[in-house]
Amino acid sequence: MGKHGKSWKVPAAEALRAKPDIEVADFDASATPGFAGDKKSGNELLVERGEHLAELQERLYAAGRSGDHRSVLLVLQGMDTAGKGGIVKHVIGAVDPQGIDHTSFGVPSEEEKKHNYLWRIRNALPRGGQIGVFDRSHYEDVLVVRVHNLVPESVWEKRYDEINRFESKLVESGTTIVKVAMFVSLEEQKERLAERLDRPDKYWKYNPADIDERKRWPDYQEAYQAVLDKTSTDVAPWYVVPCDRKWFSRLAVTELLIDALERLQLGWPPADFDVEAEKKRLAKA
Ligand code: AMP
Ligand code: MG
Repeated sequence: MGKHGKSWKVPAAEALRAKPDIEVADFDASATPGFAGDKKSGNELLVERGEHLAELQERLYAAGRSGDHRSVLLVLQGMDTAGKGGIVKHVIGAVDPQGIDHTSFGVPSEEEKKHNYLWRIRNALPRGGQIGVFDRSHYEDVLVVRVHNLVPESVWEKRYDEINRFESKLVESGTTIVKVAMFVSLEEQKERLAERLDRPDKYWKYNPADIDERKRWPDYQEAYQAVLDKTSTDVAPWYVVPCDRKWFSRLAVTELLIDALERLQLGWPPADFDVEAEKKRLAKA
C-alpha cells in the first residue's frame, strides 16, 4: 500500500459515495470523510496522487488511440463558489490536456432551447480514450429548472427516470460516469463571494444573481436531495464531496478519478510492429 493508504482510513470512493439515507440539509461541508490527515498532508498527497492520475489518464488516452472505445465522464455539480472551476484547474490541470474534453453548461442558448435538454449533453460526450469533464450538466435541468419553475413540474418530474435511462445506456456503451455533488456551506459561500468582491482579479467570477440564489438555498437543498435520492444508481452513483476545504475537495476528486480509471485495468497498448526488427532497422538508419 502506498503513502496514501495511511491517510485515507476509508477509500475515498467508499467514504464519499452517497448513502441512501443522506440528508442534504444536515450535511457538514467542512468535514473530510475518510481522510485522517490535515491540510499539509492533504496537499502533499495531492501532488503524488496527481502524478498517478496523470499516468492512468495517459494509459486511457493511449488505449483510445489504439481503438479502445472506453471513456470516463466526470460530472461536477454544485452551487456557485463550490469550487468546480478549481477542480478543473487543479485536478484536471494535472493531466495531459490532449485527453480532456471539457464542457461547461450555462443558460441554454437559442439553438439549445430548440432541442430536448439532453441534446447538448449528447453532443458533448467524450470519445474513446478521453476524460470528459462537465462543469454543470443535465442535472441543471432538475436543479435550477426545478427551483425556478422554468418548466412545469409535470415535465421536470419525468426527467429523473429519463436521466437514469440515459446514463445507464451511456455506461453500457463503455463510459464510466463519476458524478460529484460539491457541497459548500452557506457561510463559506458568503466568504467566497465577499472575496470575489474584494479582489479585482475575481470580479469576473462574480454574478449579482448569486446573492438572489442564496435566498433560495432551502429550495436548492430540496432539489439536490431529490437528485441524490432518485439518480444515485448502481451503474452511476453520486459521490458527495464537502467543499468548504478546497484542499480536501481537490484531493477527493483526484481519488475518485483514480478509482474510476483503476477499475478500467488499463495496460499499455502492445506494439503492433516487431520491436527487435525495428531496433535493427533504426541502428542502420
Ligand atoms: P456559471 O457556471 O457560474 O458560469 O453559471 C452558469 C449559469 O447557467 C448558472 O446560473 C446555471 O444555473 C445556469 N444554467 C445551467 N444550465 C441551465 C439550464 N439547463 N437552464 C437554466 N439555467 C441553466
Ligand atoms: Mg457563477
